[in-house]
Amino acid sequence: MSAERQTYDVVVVGLGGMGSAAARHLARRGAAVLGVEQFTPAHALGSSHGDTRIVRKAYFEHPDYVPLLRRAYPLWDELGAEIGRPLFLRTGALMIGAEDSAVVTGTLASVAAWGLAHDVLDDGLMRHRYPQFSLRPGEIAVFEADAGYVNPEDAVRAHLELARRDGADLRFGAKVTAWRLDGDGVLVEFAGGRARARSLVLAAGAWTAPLAPGLDIAMRVGRRVMHYLNPPAGPAEFDPARFPVYVFQTGPGDAIYGFPLVGDPANGVKVGFHYRGADVDPDTVDREVSGAEREEMRTVLAERIPGLAGEHVDARVCLYTLTPDEHFVIDLLPGSAGRVALAAGFSGHGFKFTPVVGEILADLALDGATEHPIGFLAADRFAGP
Ligand SMILES: Cc1cc2nc3c(=O)[nH]c(=O)nc-3n(C[C@H](O)[C@H](O)[C@H](O)COP(=O)(O)OP(=O)(O)OC[C@H]3O[C@@H](n4cnc5c(N)ncnc54)[C@H](O)[C@@H]3O)c2cc1C
Repeated sequence: MSAERQTYDVVVVGLGGMGSAAARHLARRGAAVLGVEQFTPAHALGSSHGDTRIVRKAYFEHPDYVPLLRRAYPLWDELGAEIGRPLFLRTGALMIGAEDSAVVTGTLASVAAWGLAHDVLDDGLMRHRYPQFSLRPGEIAVFEADAGYVNPEDAVRAHLELARRDGADLRFGAKVTAWRLDGDGVLVEFAGGRARARSLVLAAGAWTAPLAPGLDIAMRVGRRVMHYLNPPAGPAEFDPARFPVYVFQTGPGDAIYGFPLVGDPANGVKVGFHYRGADVDPDTVDREVSGAEREEMRTVLAERIPGLAGEHVDARVCLYTLTPDEHFVIDLLPGSAGRVALAAGFSGHGFKFTPVVGEILADLALDGATEHPIGFLAADRFAGP
């Protein structure tokens, strides 16, 4: 069957974190879905790879995300049940920093706004409970028990598998080159064919800009390194039972985040810088990690998590798509007559939301509106008077 003249309810452009979830939710609702992805399923060239993503709810970035996370949590558990393997593994999460740091004050603001369960740990309690971390005077931590991590490749595969099970037509190795409004629908052109649909979902991650000319938000693509280290202190200290996921604000505008040892100890313990990294082009980004970059991480770890400052077993590049305020854009694309639902600019913290974003994109693509509170993520929020 040729893709020529094929007609669908919705075409989803990009089958990474967000697009795979959108395809799954659209197919579940009975829509005729075509998903088009330029690379392979769960590939390592975008933003949704590297074995682990933090999932947490006491959200330092903004309290308005909490209602979306309250929906994401049961959707993660449901996805795990449907696919027959748990996806969201709870380890608890530590948000660490100076008392007046953005990570600590922001976490406590979300906790206060939504009455979320948490514990505040001073440096004495931290030394006792989590001696792996080395805090400076005046630094504290907020512990949230109902938090943990998901495996992003596994989650993308789960969404794709369920979408396909519900009849979605998924094409890989097919880059979308153009789309345009056409009559009362949308026409999409991609390598190997074209298709018509009532509406379009744009979930193209770092490649969004050329596909969203109507969007008046500049998005930078940031190169970020995921470091995998062999702990000289031995693996036991980093067991998930003793070492939760964390974000550690090590200074103003600087933070590391990381995970316990998951899976094979030979794969190392993962840690990364949240802010440090160059702006790049997703098609020409250097995917090699230099010795200097490895050393930079070991130097910070030597002070902050000394038991982890060992040899690298691996280092991989991943891409952030950053908006000016580092909040997402989830909206109907301006100038698209309400026919294009856009999810982009996840600014390095979107993965935990993928199932609820899939649900929202299905709402927007099928109904032109959603009941989820996404006003703060509107596409026109930077528009001047
Ligand atoms: C190092 C790192 C650590 C992170 N840690 C966390 C974390 O702990 N917790 C958390 O919640 N989030 C985290 N994130 C952020 C999160 O992973 C991203 O926000 C999320 O993966 C973004 O998903 P996406 O669907 O927008 O992008 P992607 O998953 O990259 O998907 C976009 C897809 O669109 C495809 N595409 C683009 N253009 C076209 C085209 N023209 N035709 C066809 N296909 C196209 C791409 O190939 C890609 O597959 C992290 C990200 C990185 C890089």
